[in-house]
Amino acid sequence: MVTVIKKSFLVKGLKLPENKISANKPIEKLPVPKKTLILLQQHFGEPCTPVVARGDKVKTGQIIADSDKLFSAPVHSSITGTVTNITKVINPFANNIVDAIEITADEIKNEDEWAELETDKLMLEISENLKEIYFENFKNNFSETQKKSKKTEAENLWKELIKIINETSKENIIQKVKDAGVVGLGGATFPTHVKLSTKKNIDTLIINGCECEPFITSDHRIMMEHGWQVLAGAYIIFKVLSAKTTFVAIEDNKEDAIKLFSQLIDEANLGMNFKIISLKSKYPMGAEKTLIKNVLGRKVPVGGLPMDIGVVVNNVGTAKAVFEAVSEGKPLIEKVITITGDIKDPKNLLVRIGTPVNDLINACEKFDMNNFKIVLGGPMMGNVISDLNFPITKAANCILIKKTKRLTEGNCIRCGRCVNICPMNLMPLMYAVYTKNSKFEILREYNINSCIECGSCAYVCPASIPIVAYIKTAKSVLSGYGK
Ligand code: SF4
Ligand code: SF4
Repeated sequence: MVTVIKKSFLVKGLKLPENKISANKPIEKLPVPKKTLILLQQHFGEPCTPVVARGDKVKTGQIIADSDKLFSAPVHSSITGTVTNITKVINPFANNIVDAIEITADEIKNEDEWAELETDKLMLEISENLKEIYFENFKNNFSETQKKSKKTEAENLWKELIKIINETSKENIIQKVKDAGVVGLGGATFPTHVKLSTKKNIDTLIINGCECEPFITSDHRIMMEHGWQVLAGAYIIFKVLSAKTTFVAIEDNKEDAIKLFSQLIDEANLGMNFKIISLKSKYPMGAEKTLIKNVLGRKVPVGGLPMDIGVVVNNVGTAKAVFEAVSEGKPLIEKVITITGDIKDPKNLLVRIGTPVNDLINACEKFDMNNFKIVLGGPMMGNVISDLNFPITKAANCILIKKTKRLTEGNCIRCGRCVNICPMNLMPLMYAVYTKNSKFEILREYNINSCIECGSCAYVCPASIPIVAYIKTAKSVLSGYGK
């Protein structure tokens, strides 16, 4: 039997209206776009340089930009077509200018032609069989007798799969993950092969299935529809890191996911090392540092990484991408994006990286854009965008369409609410004050780089001060941009 540990919130947090209106919407595939714009830095670390030129024909999954630096990840074409431009784009997330490659789909063929992938045939076959069992099970298509025999079938498939993973070398796995351009899909986009290559002693892996920001449901859907891939990817990471324990962290508002992962861990016979942590649903539970504090009671040192305290955290989508990289040799060329907000038909869409935001909006419904704002990301951490041709990146997880409300920024009344709510115990009001006065250097003394940009301070501020916008500006200036 799998252990399910219940935990309450150890650090400060907000109870927000969940608004998970797309939670029961199965993932739909958005048609392959006619044009993609692929940013050459959509990961933490060094940007890539193009390895293709204008006019080159490219296949889906082909590397189009790469870097020889450790902190980087190759970038692949997400469609089949021709390189029609190599240009520069403002990235509102990182507040910088990055190179980008435009690829126009091949109109004559108008189909996906994949680059040759290094597939592990046996692993892929097992995965396909597990998919069939879990999909039918999910749809409740089995009788009680069938369920029993399918459970035995699944257990045998897991046995085989785990044997193959155990026999695959760590070096081979890390190389495949690197070649596939897998990065942290929870938003941080830290190159996954760097985490897997750590020389530090890792005792705990946390698989992050908390999706605490209101409206967003993409990870929930990934857990429900691709749970076996998430668990297989988690096991691969666990083996490579030689960790002792894996916690699958899921909030208690996703009972269906907790139930499914209990079943999966049980059938894979991983209960000795894999446990489920059921966490109170509060914001920002899913942020890496708050999650570690809540699950293990450990604190990541200022300026440090979770691996410094023996922990690696990977999002559920990342675990799935790791499994696809190792079993299929599949590069990270698509993502599940929730499109939601003040719309009638919210969705979870599987979207090619580089697809313009406009394509996703058009897949939902028509509305008067003048009355709405488009946020790339959730309501707490997202950025309002004005250019709807901006492309989906590996960091994106949501497009939120909200009716425009005009808020006027007032003066700080020193109420202290922002300080009281900050999960990192920072002084958010100071970030606004000193940024307004262009006194950026002093903000280092206030540990501005420990801010996880969760937006809790701005949410509670009665003066409607856009504190996170000030924080982002200050961080950009301090990191050298704009000098
Ligand atoms: S200062 Fe940063 S970490 Fe603290 S509440 Fe504001 S955004 Fe969140
Ligand atoms: S919550 Fe807003 S008004 Fe209150 S102290 Fe913080 S910045 Fe000032």
